[in-house]
Amino acid sequence: MSVPVPDTVDHSVSGTAPGAVAFWLRVALDVPLQGLFDYRADTRVPVGARVIVPFGARQLVGVVIEHPERPALDPRQLRDIILALDDTDPLPEDWLRLASFAAQYYQRPLGEVILPALPAGLRKVSAYLGKRSAGGPVRRMDRRQARKAVEIEADEPPQLNVEQADAVAAIAALREHKTVLLHGVTGSGKTEVYLHVAQQVLARGRQVLFMVPEINLTPQFELSLRARLSAVAGAQALAIMHSGLSDGERLQAWMRVQRGEARVLLGTRLSIFAPMPELGLIVVDEEHDVSYKQQDGLRYSARDLAIWRAHDRNVPVVLGSATPSLETWNHAESGRYLRYTLGKRAKAAEPPALRLVDTRRLAMEQGFSPQLIEAMERRLELGQQSLVFLNRRGYAPVLNCGSCGWVSQCTRCTAYTVMHRGRGRFNLLQCHHCGYQARVPRACPDCGDQDLKPMGRGTQRVEEYLAERFPQARIARIDADSTRLKGSAAALFAQVHAGEVDILVGTQMVAKGHDFANLGLVGVLNADAMLFAQDFRAPERLFAQLMQVAGRAGRHAAGGEVIIQTDYPDQAVYQALVRHDYHGFARYGLAEREAVGLPPFAYQALLTAEARELPKSLEFLARARGLPAENPQAFPEAGAVTLYDPVPLRVVRVANIERAQLLVESHNRPVLQRFLTQWTAALPELARELRIRYNLEVDPLEI
Ligand code: ADP
Ligand code: ZN
Ligand code: ZN
Repeated sequence: MSVPVPDTVDHSVSGTAPGAVAFWLRVALDVPLQGLFDYRADTRVPVGARVIVPFGARQLVGVVIEHPERPALDPRQLRDIILALDDTDPLPEDWLRLASFAAQYYQRPLGEVILPALPAGLRKVSAYLGKRSAGGPVRRMDRRQARKAVEIEADEPPQLNVEQADAVAAIAALREHKTVLLHGVTGSGKTEVYLHVAQQVLARGRQVLFMVPEINLTPQFELSLRARLSAVAGAQALAIMHSGLSDGERLQAWMRVQRGEARVLLGTRLSIFAPMPELGLIVVDEEHDVSYKQQDGLRYSARDLAIWRAHDRNVPVVLGSATPSLETWNHAESGRYLRYTLGKRAKAAEPPALRLVDTRRLAMEQGFSPQLIEAMERRLELGQQSLVFLNRRGYAPVLNCGSCGWVSQCTRCTAYTVMHRGRGRFNLLQCHHCGYQARVPRACPDCGDQDLKPMGRGTQRVEEYLAERFPQARIARIDADSTRLKGSAAALFAQVHAGEVDILVGTQMVAKGHDFANLGLVGVLNADAMLFAQDFRAPERLFAQLMQVAGRAGRHAAGGEVIIQTDYPDQAVYQALVRHDYHGFARYGLAEREAVGLPPFAYQALLTAEARELPKSLEFLARARGLPAENPQAFPEAGAVTLYDPVPLRVVRVANIERAQLLVESHNRPVLQRFLTQWTAALPELARELRIRYNLEVDPLEI
């Protein structure tokens, strides 16, 4: 990748003092401008190294991308770098390739990909040039790093069943890139397969990247990985990376994997950007999970980047799921991905019994059917745990005046404010879109009546009701509110695992991946909320989510039971669920998508505009849509790309910003890519003219 650098530069051109040696560097910076920036240095700074450079009046950390043969500017105008940072090894070439691919594919300037991917300590100028910078964060870290030799008890691995053993043998034998789908029903022991394959890869002296969708799943996996892999890789060989770490911890993990000290990296989506010189395997657990998609900045899919990276490094990548995304399933069906199936549960032989309770004619009590209450009573008698799943946090989704019909609304968003029970004396109204928060008023702001009622229910209200209904039971609630403090989620999950909880109420946070040993019953409230969503992926997501949460029941013992309350028991999604029929659901779903030309049979991008007023957002999108017609030569691909009409977002206004979006679609991915590159070159000017903010998302998951 690096270009040979001339040792000396023609003095008359460079303007350097006679006899001096100069080097040209092309540097990526985190600034919202396309392109790279050229500087001069008097030492040879390698590609991948970080430098501090002047940029306007500012000083920024940048990364050297190449040594240009000649600078883009007149060399006399080149500025000198301020400092070359050598406290870490340069970023490896393959890391730079990954970043370049991501920048190109997601249509962002390279610097806006590279710098944010680094741990904060490596991209802050103040760490190096500030008054109190004691020689850089890396050296500080090294001094602080007191090695604790934690003794981990190796646990006895279970005997693999035939399906697991076949999958392990086949995957571990791969010596080149393959994308492997491990399709295993919930509780089928996918983790065991990952661990066995990882063991063999580690034994060959390679590193393993292990990705999970949720930060809360890391402790459980950390335990298994420590117990099982320390024998092959050493007790210190595990590094963890997720957004809950301090800057120092994140930096330390980064350094340890880059130096090869850590052999296994366990992390959430951001770990895809960790430098791993000896990468030998990537595992993406719950590959269908939307959490792998970054929702701001560089809107990347860590799952898709994992596949690209594994291909680039010529190593296997294993995608695990009970409910693969239809994109992945399509590739498995067509034979492009290898597929291994774990068809039955590893411990409890049977899957949980799934029951739909038709709630249309039932006398419900606080959202609970008599059937669900009775089932919970039975589990309490058996000494087993129950999980009540409701994907809505807070006490009630809206507050309503019984006399005049007033409803609590956010003044800054087109959304209701959600009632929350406060810790102190006051209840709160909270906007889940912008974070606005206020006390619940004593009386109706419109008519002064004191008859304000919470409408509907969230997890807090369910918890309150269950505490009244089952006074003898120990109840815990796990959602974003109850786990706000660092460590509180881990503590709550530990209580559940330790059997200190009888009834667990939770949002999607509890649905994923957890291996609860004593959980017999799962009850699902308000599943219908997702049934009629606009998004074409809504049924797929509902199916996956319900399958996931249902999969928490009866994992270690027979007799697991799932009750889904619904007003629409005949819907195809529910019928497929009751039959545990992923195959049927996927076949039907793919056929439908193919018939109307939706992903994975088409490729999409979404341009979103944000302005004070909706008309301005719509105007920007309309003008952006018109660009190809105005200048056909600049858009040779436009004929094979569909640009839909701009439309307001469902929640139009958030924090006083009004948003609209435009969908771009093509049946050919390279065509779409080329079109987007041409298009995004023209958008900044249009945005400046209309004074608007916009973002482009490639492969959007929510439309
Ligand atoms: P999945 O990720 O597929 O939902 P897990 O990997 O969590 O399932 O496995 C479910 C449970 O089965 C775990 O408690 C695990 O230890 C256990 N298990 C896995 N494989 C075996 C096996 N071959 N024999 C016995 N128990 C197993
Ligand atoms: Zn009123
Ligand atoms: Zn708001």
